[in-house]
Amino acid sequence: MGAFRSMPMSLIAVTADDVRLYGCPNCNVKIHLDDASTNPSIVSTVCGVCDSGINICYNGMVPEKSGMQIGFRNADGTEERHTPKLVEHPRKFMRAWTREHPHPENFSPRGIGRDETPGCFVCGGKKDLYHNIAAFVSNREAGERVVQMFPFGARLDFRPSTPYRVQVKIGACDAHLPVLEQLGKVTYDAGRAISSELIRRAFDAAGMGGDMHDYYRLD
Ligand SMILES: [Zn+2]
Ligand SMILES: [Zn+2]
Repeated sequence: MGAFRSMPMSLIAVTADDVRLYGCPNCNVKIHLDDASTNPSIVSTVCGVCDSGINICYNGMVPEKSGMQIGFRNADGTEERHTPKLVEHPRKFMRAWTREHPHPENFSPRGIGRDETPGCFVCGGKKDLYHNIAAFVSNREAGERVVQMFPFGARLDFRPSTPYRVQVKIGACDAHLPVLEQLGKVTYDAGRAISSELIRRAFDAAGMGGDMHDYYRLD
């Protein structure tokens, strides 16, 4: 039954509802689901982006009831068979992304410094010197998409002389420095990535979720 796969991700199973929202349990890419059946079932597939094995449980299926086993070959050549274990989606902090909507974006924060930004990302304000996170992004277009995630306080730093070192700068006033620190931590912990979902997480972590969610909407 089934091919031998090396990815430990094959040992887990996630619900189709979770996959619909969060995509691949290893990389969050959108997975196209076969929603035809209404019966409990488990479907095994392989992510086209990260190559992980993915076990998807439909309609309340529990893997233990399916009799499904996945084979693994150990380093010493012996083989083991396991029934995947149904778990909560391990990457619930990011919505599923697609190539057309590459969301989340790469975001490598370089720590907190001081620079000119169009305001504070929490309370707005005017262009001035603020505490700021400077983060490298994939390219100019990706940087523009990241700036779009912020209704205020963020700008692109693109220099024609160094077109491959594009940064986004996000400002915070003295009062909102702790929120900026949460943004740095949340995006770093997410594997150096940013999304509307992650920005909201930073507000939640700073105890400001309810106030800010109206400004920072999920698209
Ligand atoms: Zn994947
Ligand atoms: Zn502020």
